Amino acid sequence: MTELERKQDRAPVPSSWDYAPAPEARDLVQLRERYGHFVGGEWLEPREAYTTIDPSSEEALAEVGQATSEEVDLAVGAARDAFENGWSDISPAERAKYLYRIARILQERSREFAVLESLNGGKPIRESRDVDLPLSAAHFFYYAGWADKLEYAFPNRKPRPIGVAGQIVPWNFPLLMLSWKVAPALATGNTVVLKPAETTPLSALLFADVLRQAELPPGVVNIVTGDGRTGGALVKHPGVDKIAFTGSTEVGKSIQRELAGTGKRLTLELGGKAANVIFDDAALDQAVEGIVNGIYFNQGHVCCAGSRLLVQESIYEPLVGKLKRRLATLRVGDPLDKNTDVGAINSRQQLDKIKELVAAGEEEGAEIYQPPCKLPEKGYWFVPTVFTNVAQSYRIAQEEIFGPVLSVLTFRTPDEAVEKANNTPYGLAAGVWTEKGSRILAMAQQLRAGVIWANTYNRFDPASPFGGYKESGFGREGGRHGLAAYLAFEE
Ligand code: NAD
Ligand code: MN
Repeated sequence: MTELERKQDRAPVPSSWDYAPAPEARDLVQLRERYGHFVGGEWLEPREAYTTIDPSSEEALAEVGQATSEEVDLAVGAARDAFENGWSDISPAERAKYLYRIARILQERSREFAVLESLNGGKPIRESRDVDLPLSAAHFFYYAGWADKLEYAFPNRKPRPIGVAGQIVPWNFPLLMLSWKVAPALATGNTVVLKPAETTPLSALLFADVLRQAELPPGVVNIVTGDGRTGGALVKHPGVDKIAFTGSTEVGKSIQRELAGTGKRLTLELGGKAANVIFDDAALDQAVEGIVNGIYFNQGHVCCAGSRLLVQESIYEPLVGKLKRRLATLRVGDPLDKNTDVGAINSRQQLDKIKELVAAGEEEGAEIYQPPCKLPEKGYWFVPTVFTNVAQSYRIAQEEIFGPVLSVLTFRTPDEAVEKANNTPYGLAAGVWTEKGSRILAMAQQLRAGVIWANTYNRFDPASPFGGYKESGFGREGGRHGLAAYLAFEE
């Protein structure tokens, strides 16, 4: 450590950072009082409805439908009709045009979508603006490019669409998860019934407007809102040929049981407990940024979040010191403020779950650190938290918290790092920080995880497949692999 670094590390942590408020204009979004289901290109007046809120203020935003199995049946019927009467037969190059159009409209309307995503989900506007929206558009652009090249993606295998895809997405990246699912399904000639998560339906409902603007034929994409009961009705519906699910491992398992023996296709993208492994030769300041991005990005509501930090013993003290100092600079608050780093927790239910696991961590004997932090009075909030002295058996080292909570463990040798990193029922992602290229490759070979980042974390690209091992699910989204999940092949 240089003299300068030593001095920096000893300087007192600033207790508060004052910036003038920099709110994004909320009136970029025009909400309707009540939304229906989007079926066959029309709005269907819902039979039952509930209120969706802004988790940062608990204020009501709009009424949305809670789709019954009859309404799900209408949506599946519309998707079947669109599949059989046109969509699967139009030329792939024509299909591509619709996808390009959707991508461009998403870009044009990205500020509006970003505000809505932050309003309904609680994530910082900086993230919805710079991550969710650009990546959503990029997914449509990427799969638009594949639509007329499937014969090249799968040479000599005669790919054809599967039919009607039922797609169930979670609340942590509502529009991005929609894009990950809708774009490849359409590029391959399938039709869709999509169900957004109950706490974050609004960006999917605005997306229906994009579909109309793009003049996508009616029924190609249908959107039904509602909670797990609506999802269950979609899973059970005999007219659905494939289910693509992203969400909890618990629900994923129940869907797999439900579908056993039905012949329906299934892909599952479930939870994770990713290890972020820091070797003693890593650039520590960069690693600290990667650790922060790994676990506090999107309030830690990220399935591939680097929630278990594995630090080589020899650098434990300086690294944890730097991390704690960095934590004190995170700004928690109004999701629509452009200076906000950490926004609101998505729902009361999720906040309760985080609190329960954090209490378990304290009870089991881990040491908790939370920087001084003033939380807004209304809404759902949780202070960015670090646990040290964590044993591998603790619940906070085993279970997915899905919140801004990091568990720090240590290791001595690379073998020990691999063993500890793989000691989890999950296998979605991992991070490796080291200066040595050979060590990166050796670690990547031994870590049992679908995505492994080296000297970075939480980077996404539509060309790069994403998915898990073990209880993190199966099937891949993104890349050429993501096409295969929506195709049948002649044997
Ligand atoms: P969840 O699995 O219950 O919900 C995900 C989606 O599945 C939602 O659209 C929901 O309405 C739907 N769903 C719920 N029950 C269903 C059923 N029986 N049949 C069909 N669809 C159903 O997740 P949650 O309860 O909102 O969150 C709980 C935990 O799940 C979180 O704490 C986190 O650990 C995990 N999670 C993971 C991801 C991910 O990206 N992998 C996303 C969200 C939640
Ligand atoms: Mn649930």
